[in-house]
Amino acid sequence: MCQTLLEVRERIEKACVRAGRDPSEVTLLGASKGVPPEKIKTFFECGLRIFGENRVQEFLKKYEELKELPIEWHFIGYLQSNKVKYIVDKVTLIHSVDRPSLVEEIEKRAQRLGKVQKVLVEVNVGEEETKGGVKEQELKPLVELILSQEHLKLEGLMCIPPYRENPEEVRPYFVKLRSLKDQLEKEFGIKLEHLSMGMSHDFEVAIEEGATIVRIGTALFGGRS
Ligand SMILES: *Cc1c(COP(=O)(O)O)cnc(C)c1O
Repeated sequence: MCQTLLEVRERIEKACVRAGRDPSEVTLLGASKGVPPEKIKTFFECGLRIFGENRVQEFLKKYEELKELPIEWHFIGYLQSNKVKYIVDKVTLIHSVDRPSLVEEIEKRAQRLGKVQKVLVEVNVGEEETKGGVKEQELKPLVELILSQEHLKLEGLMCIPPYRENPEEVRPYFVKLRSLKDQLEKEFGIKLEHLSMGMSHDFEVAIEEGATIVRIGTALFGGRS
């Protein structure tokens, strides 16, 4: 398993070299949905430190079981407002903020904890009805709302582009997300640190287009059961 991690890291480094980027700019997140705690532990021992979960209930179970490990947990899936209270004290970064009601709920819960919650806005770059993420036209007002909250810190954007057999065809969506980030930085006079984009079959292309966090599941943990 350490070998698999090593191979993925090597592919990340090669993509960085191709793109003229420093590999330290790209963070590897293990997308661990469906992966049992023992396996997460093994990967942690191999050196993987950041794991992202999609479902609150599954996350809470694993969080309990792995409490003794200093894992940095991220939340990367669709987040129901009524579940926010269970995760705000446990996650470093929420990747999937996509609507005003969710912003308000995270603000409320973070305030109660005296915490500033780091968040990314998920953008529905493929304009797919079935997927989460804010529509491009609604991005600016949502960002404005986040910036006005005391207990939220906006760190960037995330996307799950449409699946394409050929990862080259996903490139335009990554370019789109990067350009949206550039626009927001200009418009609001802010610096956004992160572009969370790229999964198992397209992370190299994402890195070439500026990804700072790649979320990798299958290539690390094997096929989903
Ligand atoms: C499952 C998942 C991933 C990882 O997908 P793979 O194709 O298995 O690498 C990344 N991001 C999100 C939001 C996911 O749900």
